[in-house]
Amino acid sequence: MQNKRDLPWRETKDPYQIWISEIMLQQTRVASAIDYFNRFLKQFPTISDLAQAEEQEVLKLWQGLGYYSRARNLHAAAKIIQLEYHGIFPDSYKEILKLKGIGTYTAAAIASFAFNLPHAAVDGNVYRVLSRLYGINKAIDSTEGKKYFQTIASETMGNAIPEIYNQAIIEFGALQCIPRSPKCDICPLLANCFAHNNAQVDQFPVKSKQIKTKNRYFYYLFLSCKSRFLIEKRKKKDIWENLFQYPLIEYDKPISTNELLRTSEWKELFGNMELVIHSVSENVIHKLSHQNLHTKFIHIEMDIDKMKNKYGYAIINHSEISEYPFPKLIEDHLNKMTKNNP
Ligand code: SF4
Repeated sequence: MQNKRDLPWRETKDPYQIWISEIMLQQTRVASAIDYFNRFLKQFPTISDLAQAEEQEVLKLWQGLGYYSRARNLHAAAKIIQLEYHGIFPDSYKEILKLKGIGTYTAAAIASFAFNLPHAAVDGNVYRVLSRLYGINKAIDSTEGKKYFQTIASETMGNAIPEIYNQAIIEFGALQCIPRSPKCDICPLLANCFAHNNAQVDQFPVKSKQIKTKNRYFYYLFLSCKSRFLIEKRKKKDIWENLFQYPLIEYDKPISTNELLRTSEWKELFGNMELVIHSVSENVIHKLSHQNLHTKFIHIEMDIDKMKNKYGYAIINHSEISEYPFPKLIEDHLNKMTKNNP
């Protein structure tokens, strides 16, 4: 383990800290997660601090990390730990797995890193290493494949120290047996590696399905009056639930500004109100894992107080931005607006 990376969550046995780091690392690169991890623990040093926080505060701290359901689940699980486990993180794999947002990998990681329990943690790195090493062609996104890899990982772990074994194989996948151009020429497993010996490194791991990317067309209405503007909370079961955005008209195909003005949504919003379209942005493509959001920002100057009582909109001032969690797409636009109108 002399080659392992020095990471803040590796210095601790505290299950709470390990949990936070594992959830952050699910969809975020290590380098980006470190700052978020340190800030999160500064604000919520204990489970009880997190359990008592407002969801808006938790989401604000998560702003920019994406996959916001992770933050909502962390918050919900902290409340359960506080209520049902008297604020003490459960110390069995079975109980850990019951917590919201924790799947088999994360439960095994926490159980082994914090409590040294013998559970093999199988993440994307481990799938890659094991599939290449043993030439396993079962799909890693199938139920059968997942079960199979879990069994192989447990057998490979054998009587090794769970914490060290899990960290070692994850590190090996992250640093050595990397997705593209793995460092086979200096690999200690070279002689026994199926994929390398059969020139099939790029064919492992195997996946059964390609998830199609969906295109969505967002027309954000930045309705402002001097330094004040309108926001709304996203409530639907969709991306960015409970984050804030500008009033939105969504379409299933691209439309011109003239077409937008003729939509029933536009007419319902504005009726005969007086307004001035100040500017229409270029198309901005915001990519999520399986969605491309084709976005335009329409800046409208008007008497926004007339809109206040519509659809639960809120009026805020630029100086209040730090109190609300926004998706990155809106945050970037707000930064641009603040720069242009300091
Ligand atoms: S030889 Fe290459 S493909 Fe095989 S385990 Fe080592 S790094 Fe991975």
